[in-house]
Amino acid sequence: MAKKFVGYGNFFCWNCGERIEKGKRICPNCGSKYSGDSKYGNVSALGAGGIGWSHNAAHHSFKKYFKNDRKYSMIWLIGISILVPGGMLLSREIELDTEGIMVIGGILAAFWGIGLLFMFKKRGKKPDWDGIVEDKKTFQKTRLRKDREGKKYEESYTEYIVYIRKQNNSIFELKEEDSAQYDYFNIYDYLHYHGDKYLNYIEKYDKSLDTIIFCASCRSICDIRDNYCERCGCILLKADWLSR
Ligand SMILES: [Zn+2]
Ligand SMILES: [Zn+2]
Repeated sequence: MAKKFVGYGNFFCWNCGERIEKGKRICPNCGSKYSGDSKYGNVSALGAGGIGWSHNAAHHSFKKYFKNDRKYSMIWLIGISILVPGGMLLSREIELDTEGIMVIGGILAAFWGIGLLFMFKKRGKKPDWDGIVEDKKTFQKTRLRKDREGKKYEESYTEYIVYIRKQNNSIFELKEEDSAQYDYFNIYDYLHYHGDKYLNYIEKYDKSLDTIIFCASCRSICDIRDNYCERCGCILLKADWLSR
């Protein structure tokens, strides 16, 4: 068993999902090489994702990741609650008088208010649906932003939209400001939305021509030949005939 670590900075085996210590090159569980660009040599990814839905949407790794994520958020919250007031005291921005204690109290209340709200936000199950990619479009847009001095300026950005026709005939717009999912989905792709409590993920039916797959939990871009996400250890939702 690999040593247990607190916090991020460690990795998971792409083959079996075992947690791996930083610096180790071989998985202690299955013996796979877990990192490096030449993991698969010159073997092509063609077909590796398979055709068909994955039956792993309810896999235990998703719940585990969700719980870990919450634990690390809590550790991070406690960390900044010590570091930020500590730093302000050390740099003499505030003194440990009534006013200083009020400032620290205000900062901590804000941190914990936002942090806890974010962590314990209800994540209910949403209904699943099937759909077909009907169209893809990009839009050049501008928006007003403020710089550090509070001066307004115009920022231009690209909006990438994938239009998905759902089985009830309505259109779902998948809107993003980077092209990752826009490039991943093709017109006429048959899709399934997983509304599971620990997922929020659109799966492609035909993954046989893909070279990448998104982690359904942390959204990392993984090699389509991997079975598990190297960043969070969750199983990748590939066609079912491939899983053991
Ligand atoms: Zn392994
Ligand atoms: Zn992941």
